[in-house]
Amino acid sequence: MEHRVPTESIVVERLSTALTFPTISGYPAPADQAPFAACLDFVAESFPTLFSAASVKREDPWRLVVELAGSDSSLLPVLMLAHFDVVGIEENTESDWEHPPFSGAVADGFIWGRGSIDDKSSVMAILEAAEGIARSGRVPTRGLVLAFGGDEELSGLKGAATTAGEFRTEGRRFHFVLDEGSVIAEGMLNDVPMPLALIGLAEKGHVNIKVSARTAGGHAAMPPDNTAVGIVGQAIARIEAHPFPVRRLDTIESFLQTIGGVATGPARIAYRHPRILWRLIAKVLSSRTSSNAIIRTSQAVTMTEGSAVPNVLPQQAACVVNVRILPGETVESVLSRYQRLLGRLPVTVDILDPEDAHNPVPETSPSHAGFIALSESLADVLPDVLVAPFIVTGSTDSKHYANLSDAILRFAPMLLTGSDLDRVHGTNERLSVPAYLGMIRFYSNLFERVCWHD
Ligand SMILES: [Zn+2]
Repeated sequence: MEHRVPTESIVVERLSTALTFPTISGYPAPADQAPFAACLDFVAESFPTLFSAASVKREDPWRLVVELAGSDSSLLPVLMLAHFDVVGIEENTESDWEHPPFSGAVADGFIWGRGSIDDKSSVMAILEAAEGIARSGRVPTRGLVLAFGGDEELSGLKGAATTAGEFRTEGRRFHFVLDEGSVIAEGMLNDVPMPLALIGLAEKGHVNIKVSARTAGGHAAMPPDNTAVGIVGQAIARIEAHPFPVRRLDTIESFLQTIGGVATGPARIAYRHPRILWRLIAKVLSSRTSSNAIIRTSQAVTMTEGSAVPNVLPQQAACVVNVRILPGETVESVLSRYQRLLGRLPVTVDILDPEDAHNPVPETSPSHAGFIALSESLADVLPDVLVAPFIVTGSTDSKHYANLSDAILRFAPMLLTGSDLDRVHGTNERLSVPAYLGMIRFYSNLFERVCWHD
């Protein structure tokens, strides 16, 4: 029997190869499906011990589910999520990349390419760690299920939603679910001296609200006082003058108390007493767009439409408001808020694409064993980071699995510095080699912990 322990160069090379497959997601199917098949073939060949020990379900190009059964059926398995699709490269920006986006170049201490952060590094690091478990020859007490999607970037309706639907039909439950969504951030707060491992215990929901107005058309030389565009403009002004109210989530309260324990500046007093000093904290957090988004439902008017021609009155005009919903509110409550707010204007308010609207997922408690296991593994592997609960303001595949576990956790153990996070979905996406090795160490530690001990 072969006991080949991978060296650093082998695991780096494997991630590098995974990045060379341009698995660009698309509906109703990716424009080029061949890279998906090649990528999943490569994965199966790279982790032979795991793939022979596990039960595997593969449906190209949408999903791959790998299950390593546990010996104790009374223990709920752990569910690990990640996705192998990537976003494409914006036209005319390919030449801006220091290394071509699908080269998988390893240079200057980084692994370069689309997917190096989002999210093939998670796929490959999870598989490296699971292969290590399989190779150890010991049967885990608690089972481990890896569910990877091929359309997360388009909301996971064919990948994650299908897998979650099967689990629901089978009546399955999981100890915890761990997906991407948040990272280890350096320099996020000026008065917190160490990197923050932000573990997403909450995730916002989302809905697109369409506001439309209809008026008689005609020639623009004999116009009424208000055109349909003008009415929609009044609606926009009213919407922007009425932001959603601030609310204090349990998750944010825990976040503030955690950073209050280590912060150096005068704000630390406020961090430690988020209830008593909430008005002050809310004022500070509202002043920056990034922190404003964690204390209220956000709204952004992103699209407008009116007449297609300068001298023709529009018979119809509309705008779309992209709304990210804080836990505690729902798609329905958001819709009725806009209906009330705009009730005096001659407009109709609808949900633009109901199948794509999502309620927020209920918050996970920081006292759940899953959060504690992640914290303990981080303390072992990256002892200099501070673990803090957080809310994910974007959207992840884990929303499809929301009711399959008491704990949905969103976190990828990658330490990102400087501009690294801004490169996600942009130009020159890259992950440092030490950050990638840290991910593999973290998942290995976590699997050892939850599959045998907790
Ligand atoms: Zn992603």
